[in-house]
Amino acid sequence: MSAAFVDLGRTAHEHARALRSGEYTAVELAGATLARLRAQEPAIHAYITIEDERALAAAAAADESLRDGDAGPLTGIPVALKDLIATAGVPTTAASRILEGYVPAEDATVADRLRRAGAVVVGKANLDEFAMGSSTEHSAYGATRNPWDLDRVPGGSSGGSAATVAARGVPLALGTDTGGSIRQPAALTGIVGLKPTYGRVSRYGVVAFASSLEQVGPFGRDAEDVANALGAIAGLDPRDSTTAPEPVPDYREELGRGLDGLSVAVPDAFFDGAEDGVVEAVEAALGLLGANGARLVRGVDLPLASAALPAYYLIAPAEASANLARYDGVKYGAGDTSGPGLWDEMERTRGVGFGPEVKRRIMLGTYALSAGYYDAYYLKAQRVRTLIREEFDDALADHDLILSPTAPGTAFRLGERVDDPWAMYLSDLYTIPANIVGYPAISMPCGFVEGLPVGLQLLGKPFAEGTLLRATAAYQAVTDWHERSPSVPGPAGREA
Ligand code: GLN
Repeated sequence: MSAAFVDLGRTAHEHARALRSGEYTAVELAGATLARLRAQEPAIHAYITIEDERALAAAAAADESLRDGDAGPLTGIPVALKDLIATAGVPTTAASRILEGYVPAEDATVADRLRRAGAVVVGKANLDEFAMGSSTEHSAYGATRNPWDLDRVPGGSSGGSAATVAARGVPLALGTDTGGSIRQPAALTGIVGLKPTYGRVSRYGVVAFASSLEQVGPFGRDAEDVANALGAIAGLDPRDSTTAPEPVPDYREELGRGLDGLSVAVPDAFFDGAEDGVVEAVEAALGLLGANGARLVRGVDLPLASAALPAYYLIAPAEASANLARYDGVKYGAGDTSGPGLWDEMERTRGVGFGPEVKRRIMLGTYALSAGYYDAYYLKAQRVRTLIREEFDDALADHDLILSPTAPGTAFRLGERVDDPWAMYLSDLYTIPANIVGYPAISMPCGFVEGLPVGLQLLGKPFAEGTLLRATAAYQAVTDWHERSPSVPGPAGREA
Protein backbone atom coordinates (compact mmCIF):
# COMPACT_ATOMS: atom_id res chain seq x y z
CA MET A 1 0.00 0.00 0.00
CA SER A 2 1.35 3.44 -0.84
CA ALA A 3 1.84 5.81 2.08
CA ALA A 4 -1.03 8.24 2.64
CA PHE A 5 -0.77 11.49 4.56
CA VAL A 6 -3.07 11.67 7.57
CA ASP A 7 -4.08 15.34 7.51
CA LEU A 8 -5.03 16.28 11.07
CA GLY A 9 -6.46 19.59 9.91
CA ARG A 10 -9.54 17.75 8.72
CA THR A 11 -12.97 17.83 10.33
CA ALA A 12 -14.58 14.64 11.63
CA HIS A 13 -16.80 14.30 8.56
CA GLU A 14 -13.78 14.67 6.29
CA HIS A 15 -11.94 11.98 8.28
CA ALA A 16 -15.03 9.75 8.11
CA ARG A 17 -15.00 9.96 4.34
CA ALA A 18 -11.27 9.22 4.18
CA LEU A 19 -11.66 6.24 6.52
CA ARG A 20 -14.49 4.84 4.44
CA SER A 21 -12.59 5.22 1.20
CA GLY A 22 -9.55 3.52 2.73
CA GLU A 23 -7.27 6.56 2.41
CA TYR A 24 -6.00 5.71 5.90
CA THR A 25 -7.14 3.46 8.74
CA ALA A 26 -8.56 4.42 12.12
CA VAL A 27 -5.41 3.02 13.74
CA GLU A 28 -3.28 5.27 11.54
CA LEU A 29 -5.48 8.24 12.37
CA ALA A 30 -5.28 7.46 16.10
CA GLY A 31 -1.50 7.05 15.91
CA ALA A 32 -1.03 10.36 14.11
CA THR A 33 -3.39 12.05 16.57
CA LEU A 34 -1.59 10.72 19.65
CA ALA A 35 1.77 11.86 18.22
CA ARG A 36 0.39 15.34 17.62
CA LEU A 37 -1.16 15.57 21.09
CA ARG A 38 2.14 14.56 22.71
CA ALA A 39 3.97 17.18 20.66
CA GLN A 40 1.45 19.89 21.59
CA GLU A 41 1.10 19.13 25.28
CA PRO A 42 4.19 21.02 26.50
CA ALA A 43 2.84 24.20 24.90
CA ILE A 44 -0.92 23.86 25.41
CA HIS A 45 -1.50 21.36 28.23
CA ALA A 46 -5.01 20.47 27.13
CA TYR A 47 -5.05 17.05 28.82
CA ILE A 48 -4.93 15.55 32.28
CA THR A 49 -4.73 11.99 30.90
CA ILE A 50 -3.95 10.70 27.40
CA GLU A 51 -5.14 7.14 26.81
CA ASP A 52 -2.77 5.73 24.13
CA GLU A 53 -3.41 2.03 24.53
CA ARG A 54 -7.15 2.25 24.87
CA ALA A 55 -7.33 4.65 21.95
CA LEU A 56 -5.38 2.32 19.68
CA ALA A 57 -7.53 -0.66 20.75
CA ALA A 58 -10.72 1.32 20.06
CA ALA A 59 -9.31 2.37 16.70
CA ALA A 60 -8.60 -1.26 15.79
CA ALA A 61 -12.22 -2.11 16.61
CA ALA A 62 -13.34 0.85 14.48
CA ASP A 63 -11.29 -0.50 11.56
CA GLU A 64 -13.18 -3.76 11.88
CA SER A 65 -16.53 -1.94 11.72
CA LEU A 66 -15.25 -0.07 8.67
CA ARG A 67 -14.26 -3.34 7.00
CA ASP A 68 -17.66 -4.83 7.82
CA GLY A 69 -19.41 -1.84 6.25
CA ASP A 70 -20.90 -1.06 9.65
CA ALA A 71 -19.54 2.47 10.13
CA GLY A 72 -21.36 5.62 11.24
CA PRO A 73 -20.20 9.23 11.07
CA LEU A 74 -18.15 8.88 14.28
CA THR A 75 -16.54 5.51 13.61
CA GLY A 76 -12.80 5.87 14.11
CA ILE A 77 -13.02 9.58 14.97
CA PRO A 78 -10.69 10.73 17.79
CA VAL A 79 -12.49 12.57 20.59
CA ALA A 80 -11.52 14.12 23.94
CA LEU A 81 -13.71 14.14 27.05
CA LYS A 82 -13.69 16.82 29.73
CA ASP A 83 -12.18 15.13 32.76
CA LEU A 84 -15.36 15.22 34.82
CA ILE A 85 -16.99 12.65 32.53
CA ALA A 86 -16.48 9.22 34.09
CA THR A 87 -14.48 6.70 32.08
CA ALA A 88 -14.26 3.08 33.21
CA GLY A 89 -10.73 2.18 34.24
CA VAL A 90 -9.32 5.63 33.51
CA PRO A 91 -8.82 8.26 36.25
CA THR A 92 -11.47 10.98 36.38
CA THR A 93 -10.24 13.92 38.39
CA ALA A 94 -12.57 16.91 37.82
CA ALA A 95 -9.16 18.69 37.98
CA SER A 96 -9.33 18.42 41.77
CA ARG A 97 -6.84 17.01 44.25
CA ILE A 98 -9.77 15.58 46.18
CA LEU A 99 -10.45 13.04 43.41
CA GLU A 100 -6.80 12.01 43.09
CA GLY A 101 -6.57 8.25 42.59
CA TYR A 102 -10.27 7.87 41.76
CA VAL A 103 -10.88 5.44 38.89
CA PRO A 104 -14.55 5.00 37.94
CA ALA A 105 -15.93 1.50 37.53
CA GLU A 106 -18.09 2.45 34.56
CA ASP A 107 -18.47 4.96 31.76
CA ALA A 108 -20.75 7.96 31.92
CA THR A 109 -23.67 7.52 29.51
CA VAL A 110 -22.22 10.12 27.11
CA ALA A 111 -18.84 8.33 27.02
CA ASP A 112 -20.58 5.00 26.50
CA ARG A 113 -22.74 6.39 23.68
CA LEU A 114 -19.75 7.91 21.90
CA ARG A 115 -17.82 4.63 22.14
CA ARG A 116 -20.82 2.68 20.83
CA ALA A 117 -20.94 5.10 17.91
CA GLY A 118 -17.36 4.04 17.17
CA ALA A 119 -15.58 7.16 18.42
CA VAL A 120 -12.02 6.75 19.70
CA VAL A 121 -11.54 8.44 23.09
CA VAL A 122 -7.95 9.70 23.16
CA GLY A 123 -7.91 11.43 26.50
CA LYS A 124 -9.39 13.39 29.37
CA ALA A 125 -9.25 17.14 28.88
CA ASN A 126 -8.27 19.74 31.45
CA LEU A 127 -10.85 22.00 33.14
CA ASP A 128 -11.32 24.38 36.01
CA GLU A 129 -11.66 22.39 39.24
CA PHE A 130 -15.21 20.99 39.39
CA ALA A 131 -15.99 23.18 36.33
CA MET A 132 -15.88 26.35 38.43
CA GLY A 133 -14.20 29.06 36.42
CA SER A 134 -13.89 30.73 33.04
CA SER A 135 -10.20 30.30 32.23
CA THR A 136 -9.07 26.74 33.12
CA GLU A 137 -6.56 28.33 35.48
CA HIS A 138 -8.41 26.84 38.48
CA SER A 139 -7.14 23.35 37.65
CA ALA A 140 -5.11 21.44 40.22
CA TYR A 141 -3.14 20.11 37.23
CA GLY A 142 -1.97 23.45 35.82
CA ALA A 143 -3.52 25.88 33.34
CA THR A 144 -4.33 25.17 29.69
CA ARG A 145 -3.13 27.73 27.15
CA ASN A 146 -4.94 29.21 24.18
CA PRO A 147 -3.49 27.90 20.88
CA TRP A 148 -4.02 31.34 19.31
CA ASP A 149 -1.73 32.97 21.88
CA LEU A 150 0.04 30.82 24.43
CA ASP A 151 0.13 33.69 26.95
CA ARG A 152 -3.66 33.74 27.03
CA VAL A 153 -6.37 31.54 28.52
CA PRO A 154 -8.57 29.29 26.36
CA GLY A 155 -11.61 30.21 28.46
CA GLY A 156 -13.28 27.74 30.76
CA SER A 157 -14.26 25.70 32.41
CA SER A 158 -14.00 23.27 29.45
CA GLY A 159 -10.76 24.94 28.30
CA GLY A 160 -8.85 21.71 27.58
CA SER A 161 -11.62 20.38 25.33
CA ALA A 162 -11.80 23.68 23.42
CA ALA A 163 -8.04 24.14 23.12
CA THR A 164 -7.39 20.67 21.72
CA VAL A 165 -10.11 21.07 19.07
CA ALA A 166 -8.87 24.56 18.15
CA ALA A 167 -5.28 23.26 17.88
CA ARG A 168 -6.42 20.50 15.50
CA GLY A 169 -5.48 17.90 18.09
CA VAL A 170 -8.88 16.19 17.78
CA PRO A 171 -11.87 17.16 15.62
CA LEU A 172 -14.44 16.66 18.40
CA ALA A 173 -14.62 16.94 22.18
CA LEU A 174 -17.22 17.00 24.92
CA GLY A 175 -17.53 19.60 27.63
CA THR A 176 -20.13 20.68 30.16
CA ASP A 177 -21.86 24.04 30.38
CA THR A 178 -23.30 25.25 33.69
CA GLY A 179 -23.01 28.97 33.02
CA GLY A 180 -21.13 29.12 29.73
CA SER A 181 -18.36 26.56 30.05
CA ILE A 182 -18.83 25.21 26.52
CA ARG A 183 -19.75 28.42 24.68
CA GLN A 184 -17.25 30.84 26.24
CA PRO A 185 -14.17 28.66 25.60
CA ALA A 186 -15.51 27.89 22.09
CA ALA A 187 -15.65 31.66 21.48
CA LEU A 188 -12.17 32.31 22.89
CA THR A 189 -10.59 29.55 20.79
CA GLY A 190 -12.48 30.11 17.52
CA ILE A 191 -14.54 26.92 17.33
CA VAL A 192 -18.20 25.85 17.65
CA GLY A 193 -19.66 24.83 21.02
CA LEU A 194 -23.24 23.86 21.78
CA LYS A 195 -25.07 23.79 25.11
CA PRO A 196 -28.14 21.61 24.63
CA THR A 197 -31.56 22.15 26.21
CA TYR A 198 -31.75 21.12 29.86
CA GLY A 199 -32.65 17.41 29.80
CA ARG A 200 -31.50 16.77 26.23
CA VAL A 201 -28.31 14.91 27.20
CA SER A 202 -27.73 12.44 30.04
CA ARG A 203 -25.56 13.47 32.96
CA TYR A 204 -25.27 9.98 34.39
CA GLY A 205 -21.63 9.60 35.37
CA VAL A 206 -20.83 13.29 35.03
CA VAL A 207 -19.41 14.96 38.15
CA ALA A 208 -22.17 17.31 39.34
CA PHE A 209 -21.57 21.01 40.02
CA ALA A 210 -24.96 22.77 39.78
CA SER A 211 -27.55 20.20 38.78
CA SER A 212 -30.40 22.50 37.76
CA LEU A 213 -28.18 24.39 35.30
CA GLU A 214 -25.74 22.10 33.53
CA GLN A 215 -25.65 20.05 30.36
CA VAL A 216 -23.04 18.07 28.46
CA GLY A 217 -22.42 19.23 24.90
CA PRO A 218 -20.06 18.99 21.93
CA PHE A 219 -17.20 21.10 20.58
CA GLY A 220 -16.31 20.90 16.89
CA ARG A 221 -15.24 23.15 14.07
CA ASP A 222 -18.36 23.11 11.97
CA ALA A 223 -22.11 22.59 12.26
CA GLU A 224 -22.01 19.14 10.66
CA ASP A 225 -19.53 17.71 13.19
CA VAL A 226 -21.42 19.19 16.12
CA ALA A 227 -24.70 17.81 14.71
CA ASN A 228 -23.23 14.31 14.48
CA ALA A 229 -21.80 14.43 17.99
CA LEU A 230 -25.02 15.75 19.52
CA GLY A 231 -27.04 13.10 17.68
CA ALA A 232 -24.84 10.42 19.24
CA ILE A 233 -25.11 11.58 22.86
CA ALA A 234 -28.64 13.05 23.07
CA GLY A 235 -31.80 11.34 24.23
CA LEU A 236 -33.58 9.71 27.12
CA ASP A 237 -31.44 7.81 29.61
CA PRO A 238 -33.19 5.61 32.16
CA ARG A 239 -30.25 6.27 34.48
CA ASP A 240 -30.78 10.04 34.50
CA SER A 241 -34.34 10.99 35.46
CA THR A 242 -33.76 14.58 34.33
CA THR A 243 -33.44 13.51 30.68
CA ALA A 244 -36.40 14.33 28.44
CA PRO A 245 -38.37 11.79 26.38
CA GLU A 246 -38.43 14.05 23.27
CA PRO A 247 -37.25 12.02 20.27
CA VAL A 248 -33.81 12.95 18.92
CA PRO A 249 -34.11 14.24 15.36
CA ASP A 250 -31.48 13.67 12.69
CA TYR A 251 -29.81 17.05 13.15
CA ARG A 252 -28.04 16.74 9.79
CA GLU A 253 -31.35 17.14 8.01
CA GLU A 254 -31.54 20.71 9.28
CA LEU A 255 -28.14 21.74 7.98
CA GLY A 256 -29.04 22.63 4.39
CA ARG A 257 -32.21 24.59 5.13
CA GLY A 258 -30.69 28.06 5.11
CA LEU A 259 -31.88 31.12 7.00
CA ASP A 260 -35.11 31.91 5.15
CA GLY A 261 -38.02 32.35 7.51
CA LEU A 262 -35.91 32.54 10.68
CA SER A 263 -36.67 35.48 12.91
CA VAL A 264 -33.66 36.63 14.92
CA ALA A 265 -34.13 38.89 17.95
CA VAL A 266 -31.26 41.24 18.71
CA PRO A 267 -31.30 42.53 22.29
CA ASP A 268 -29.03 45.50 21.62
CA ALA A 269 -28.57 46.14 25.33
CA PHE A 270 -26.57 42.89 25.43
CA PHE A 271 -23.89 44.67 23.43
CA ASP A 272 -23.27 47.15 26.24
CA GLY A 273 -20.26 46.03 28.16
CA ALA A 274 -18.70 44.18 25.22
CA GLU A 275 -15.36 45.32 23.80
CA ASP A 276 -15.54 47.43 20.63
CA GLY A 277 -13.87 44.82 18.40
CA VAL A 278 -16.30 42.16 19.59
CA VAL A 279 -19.29 44.39 18.85
CA GLU A 280 -17.93 45.15 15.36
CA ALA A 281 -17.44 41.47 14.54
CA VAL A 282 -20.91 40.55 15.81
CA GLU A 283 -22.51 43.47 13.92
CA ALA A 284 -20.84 42.27 10.71
CA ALA A 285 -22.13 38.73 11.31
CA LEU A 286 -25.58 40.09 11.95
CA GLY A 287 -25.53 41.94 8.63
CA LEU A 288 -24.50 38.77 6.84
CA LEU A 289 -27.27 36.73 8.46
CA GLY A 290 -29.75 39.39 7.34
CA ALA A 291 -28.34 39.47 3.81
CA ASN A 292 -28.74 35.70 3.62
CA GLY A 293 -32.40 35.51 4.51
CA ALA A 294 -32.79 35.88 8.28
CA ARG A 295 -35.28 38.46 9.53
CA LEU A 296 -33.49 40.63 12.07
CA VAL A 297 -35.48 42.40 14.75
CA ARG A 298 -33.36 44.93 16.62
CA GLY A 299 -33.96 46.54 19.96
CA VAL A 300 -35.74 43.56 21.53
CA ASP A 301 -35.96 44.28 25.23
CA LEU A 302 -34.83 41.67 27.76
CA PRO A 303 -34.37 43.86 30.85
CA LEU A 304 -34.28 40.99 33.33
CA ALA A 305 -31.42 39.22 31.55
CA SER A 306 -29.00 41.38 33.54
CA ALA A 307 -30.28 39.72 36.72
CA ALA A 308 -29.20 36.30 35.44
CA LEU A 309 -25.59 36.63 36.60
CA PRO A 310 -26.38 37.58 40.22
CA ALA A 311 -29.11 34.90 40.39
CA TYR A 312 -26.62 32.36 39.03
CA TYR A 313 -24.05 33.20 41.70
CA LEU A 314 -26.60 32.30 44.37
CA ILE A 315 -28.16 29.23 42.73
CA ALA A 316 -24.96 27.63 41.38
CA PRO A 317 -22.94 27.87 44.63
CA ALA A 318 -25.98 26.69 46.64
CA GLU A 319 -26.27 23.57 44.49
CA ALA A 320 -22.49 23.13 44.50
CA SER A 321 -22.35 23.21 48.29
CA ALA A 322 -24.85 20.34 48.36
CA ASN A 323 -23.26 18.35 45.49
CA LEU A 324 -19.75 18.65 46.87
CA ALA A 325 -20.72 17.47 50.36
CA ARG A 326 -20.03 13.92 49.17
CA TYR A 327 -16.28 14.52 48.88
CA ASP A 328 -15.29 13.66 52.40
CA GLY A 329 -12.34 11.37 51.72
CA VAL A 330 -14.36 8.31 52.69
CA LYS A 331 -16.08 7.26 49.49
CA TYR A 332 -14.02 8.86 46.71
CA GLY A 333 -10.46 9.79 45.95
CA ALA A 334 -7.87 11.21 48.28
CA GLY A 335 -8.36 11.14 52.05
CA ASP A 336 -6.26 12.37 54.94
CA THR A 337 -6.43 9.67 57.60
CA SER A 338 -3.84 11.17 59.92
CA GLY A 339 -6.31 12.94 62.16
CA PRO A 340 -7.54 11.87 65.60
CA GLY A 341 -11.13 11.32 64.48
CA LEU A 342 -13.58 11.17 61.57
CA TRP A 343 -14.62 14.85 61.61
CA ASP A 344 -11.02 15.93 61.84
CA GLU A 345 -10.10 13.72 58.89
CA MET A 346 -12.93 15.09 56.78
CA GLU A 347 -11.94 18.64 57.63
CA ARG A 348 -8.33 18.02 56.61
CA THR A 349 -9.32 16.15 53.45
CA ARG A 350 -11.55 19.00 52.31
CA GLY A 351 -9.06 21.60 53.50
CA VAL A 352 -6.25 20.32 51.30
CA GLY A 353 -8.38 18.62 48.62
CA PHE A 354 -10.35 21.64 47.38
CA GLY A 355 -8.79 24.68 45.73
CA PRO A 356 -9.63 28.28 46.68
CA GLU A 357 -12.36 28.87 44.06
CA VAL A 358 -14.20 25.69 45.06
CA LYS A 359 -13.98 26.68 48.72
CA ARG A 360 -15.31 30.13 47.87
CA ARG A 361 -18.34 28.57 46.13
CA ILE A 362 -19.01 26.12 48.97
CA MET A 363 -18.96 28.94 51.51
CA LEU A 364 -21.16 31.21 49.39
CA GLY A 365 -23.61 28.39 48.80
CA THR A 366 -23.72 27.26 52.40
CA TYR A 367 -24.39 30.83 53.47
CA ALA A 368 -27.15 31.31 50.89
CA LEU A 369 -28.89 28.12 52.05
CA SER A 370 -28.50 28.69 55.79
CA ALA A 371 -31.52 29.23 58.01
CA GLY A 372 -32.49 32.88 58.03
CA TYR A 373 -30.88 33.62 54.67
CA TYR A 374 -32.60 30.98 52.56
CA ASP A 375 -35.63 33.20 51.83
CA ALA A 376 -33.59 36.35 51.39
CA TYR A 377 -31.10 34.89 48.92
CA TYR A 378 -31.75 31.42 47.51
CA LEU A 379 -35.54 31.64 47.25
CA LYS A 380 -35.37 35.15 45.84
CA ALA A 381 -32.88 34.02 43.20
CA GLN A 382 -35.22 31.19 42.21
CA ARG A 383 -38.09 33.67 41.86
CA VAL A 384 -35.93 35.91 39.69
CA ARG A 385 -35.09 32.83 37.63
CA THR A 386 -38.79 32.23 36.92
CA LEU A 387 -39.25 35.85 35.84
CA ILE A 388 -36.26 35.64 33.50
CA ARG A 389 -37.67 32.47 31.94
CA GLU A 390 -41.02 34.20 31.35
CA GLU A 391 -39.22 37.09 29.68
CA PHE A 392 -37.31 34.74 27.35
CA ASP A 393 -40.48 32.76 26.62
CA ASP A 394 -42.17 35.98 25.50
CA ALA A 395 -39.28 36.84 23.19
CA LEU A 396 -39.13 33.30 21.79
CA ALA A 397 -42.88 33.29 21.12
CA ASP A 398 -42.18 35.91 18.43
CA HIS A 399 -38.68 34.91 17.32
CA ASP A 400 -36.73 31.74 16.59
CA LEU A 401 -33.37 32.92 17.85
CA ILE A 402 -31.84 35.47 20.20
CA LEU A 403 -28.45 36.75 19.02
CA SER A 404 -25.63 38.26 21.07
CA PRO A 405 -21.87 38.14 21.47
CA THR A 406 -20.85 34.94 23.30
CA ALA A 407 -18.40 36.71 25.58
CA PRO A 408 -17.79 40.41 26.27
CA GLY A 409 -14.14 40.17 25.20
CA THR A 410 -11.52 38.01 23.54
CA ALA A 411 -9.10 35.68 25.35
CA PHE A 412 -7.48 37.41 28.33
CA ARG A 413 -3.96 36.90 29.63
CA LEU A 414 -3.10 34.13 32.05
CA GLY A 415 -3.08 35.56 35.55
CA GLU A 416 -5.11 38.62 34.59
CA ARG A 417 -8.36 37.65 36.34
CA VAL A 418 -7.44 34.70 38.48
CA ASP A 419 -7.29 36.78 41.68
CA ASP A 420 -10.30 38.87 40.79
CA PRO A 421 -13.39 36.62 41.01
CA TRP A 422 -15.79 39.35 39.95
CA ALA A 423 -13.86 40.09 36.73
CA MET A 424 -13.74 36.34 36.05
CA TYR A 425 -17.48 35.94 36.69
CA LEU A 426 -18.30 38.74 34.24
CA SER A 427 -16.83 36.63 31.40
CA ASP A 428 -20.14 34.73 31.46
CA LEU A 429 -22.44 37.73 31.30
CA TYR A 430 -24.03 36.67 28.00
CA THR A 431 -23.90 32.90 28.40
CA ILE A 432 -25.50 32.47 31.84
CA PRO A 433 -29.08 33.41 30.79
CA ALA A 434 -29.34 30.23 28.65
CA ASN A 435 -28.54 28.10 31.71
CA ILE A 436 -30.92 30.05 33.92
CA VAL A 437 -33.79 29.43 31.47
CA GLY A 438 -32.60 25.95 30.40
CA TYR A 439 -32.67 26.61 26.66
CA PRO A 440 -30.13 25.61 24.01
CA ALA A 441 -27.44 27.99 22.77
CA ILE A 442 -24.51 27.77 20.42
CA SER A 443 -21.33 29.77 19.89
CA MET A 444 -19.64 30.01 16.48
CA PRO A 445 -16.56 31.91 15.35
CA CYS A 446 -17.44 35.24 13.69
CA GLY A 447 -14.18 37.16 13.37
CA PHE A 448 -10.92 38.17 14.99
CA VAL A 449 -9.66 41.10 17.02
CA GLU A 450 -5.88 41.46 16.95
CA GLY A 451 -5.46 37.81 16.04
CA LEU A 452 -7.86 36.53 18.71
CA PRO A 453 -11.17 34.82 17.84
CA VAL A 454 -14.60 36.32 18.54
CA GLY A 455 -17.72 34.23 19.14
CA LEU A 456 -21.33 34.84 18.10
CA GLN A 457 -24.06 33.30 20.28
CA LEU A 458 -27.50 32.13 19.19
CA LEU A 459 -30.05 31.03 21.78
CA GLY A 460 -33.09 29.00 20.70
CA LYS A 461 -36.37 27.49 21.85
CA PRO A 462 -36.37 24.34 23.98
CA PHE A 463 -35.24 21.33 21.93
CA ALA A 464 -34.55 23.52 18.89
CA GLU A 465 -30.89 22.48 18.68
CA GLY A 466 -31.60 21.71 15.00
CA THR A 467 -32.42 25.37 14.36
CA LEU A 468 -29.18 26.49 16.03
CA LEU A 469 -27.20 24.07 13.86
CA ARG A 470 -29.11 25.12 10.75
CA ALA A 471 -28.27 28.79 11.35
CA THR A 472 -24.64 27.91 12.12
CA ALA A 473 -24.35 25.86 8.91
CA ALA A 474 -25.86 28.71 6.89
CA TYR A 475 -23.45 31.24 8.41
CA GLN A 476 -20.46 28.95 7.90
CA ALA A 477 -21.46 28.41 4.26
CA VAL A 478 -20.81 32.11 3.58
CA THR A 479 -17.83 32.67 5.94
CA ASP A 480 -14.48 31.02 6.51
CA TRP A 481 -13.67 32.04 10.12
CA HIS A 482 -14.06 28.41 11.16
CA GLU A 483 -11.40 27.35 8.67
CA ARG A 484 -8.68 29.56 10.15
CA SER A 485 -6.23 27.65 12.22
CA PRO A 486 -3.70 28.76 14.84
CA SER A 487 -0.06 27.87 14.29
CA VAL A 488 0.93 25.53 17.07
CA PRO A 489 3.87 23.22 17.55
CA GLY A 490 3.50 19.56 16.63
CA PRO A 491 3.30 17.68 13.32
CA ALA A 492 0.31 18.75 11.17
CA GLY A 493 -0.17 15.15 10.20
CA ARG A 494 1.99 12.27 9.19
CA GLU A 495 2.70 9.62 6.61
CA ALA A 496 0.46 6.68 7.36
N1 GLN B 1 -17.75 30.30 34.70
C1 GLN B 1 -18.98 29.91 35.33
C2 GLN B 1 -18.67 29.49 36.75
O1 GLN B 1 -17.58 29.62 37.14
C3 GLN B 1 -19.61 28.79 34.56
C4 GLN B 1 -18.92 27.51 34.73
C5 GLN B 1 -19.55 26.39 33.95
O2 GLN B 1 -20.32 26.60 33.03
N2 GLN B 1 -19.24 25.17 34.38
O3 GLN B 1 -19.51 29.04 37.46
